[in-house]
Amino acid sequence: MAVNGGGSAVILFGSPGSGKGTQAKLLRQCMQAPHISTGDMLREHIEAGDALGTQVRAGMQAGMLVSDELVNRLVEDRIDRPDCTRGFILDGYPRTLQQAGAMHQLLLARNVVPVVLHLQVDYNKVIARLSGRRLCPVCGTLYSISSNPPKVAGLCDKDGAKLITREDDSESVIRQRLEEYSLQTQPLMKYFRESGVSTFDVDGSEGSPQTISNKICGLISRQV
Ligand code: AMP
Repeated sequence: MAVNGGGSAVILFGSPGSGKGTQAKLLRQCMQAPHISTGDMLREHIEAGDALGTQVRAGMQAGMLVSDELVNRLVEDRIDRPDCTRGFILDGYPRTLQQAGAMHQLLLARNVVPVVLHLQVDYNKVIARLSGRRLCPVCGTLYSISSNPPKVAGLCDKDGAKLITREDDSESVIRQRLEEYSLQTQPLMKYFRESGVSTFDVDGSEGSPQTISNKICGLISRQV
């Protein structure tokens, strides 16, 4: 195991559609640290059509969580890369108690201090956001039909690529993902608090993504 030398792990925590991905991308600039999204990593494997992608595809399309063991391994390999030496941003991990325990061990062994940012967004807003979400398959930019539409409908502002809807952003799958969140993931806040991890609640529905990011960035710079 390559042992990285300290720093902070900022854990962006919140339901699907709470803005974790958007905030992680903005926070990357403020923290000068890499953004590690387990969802993105899994989708890359699916796109590559490799064995891991084939293994997780059906479950992900149905809005189910993939196995703890698999995700823990992906994260461990990723945080041992040299760009994580001074800290990193976790988006979408941990999502179960088992993953939270594994993460704790991984961070302790690397002398990395976790800070949890809990993005809180109203349920109805989350549904509206997820069903109106569009993604550029080329550069990864996220759009929202209602709050942040592209200049030309259906096309990415940056590279003109045709925007797509994620396979798991259909209505029935959104419901399944939110159920997984409330059953398996939400209880982690209690776990974090009881284990003495610094946690901060952030209102993820008021203001533009940049305004929310400025708040988060201020909070983080006082912590790390
Ligand atoms: P996300 O992009 O974070 O919304 O994740 C999309 C999907 O990837 C989830 O609905 C799960 O199927 C899978 N996934 C991502 N992260 C995890 C995780 N930490 N544990 C289990 N499944 C995950």
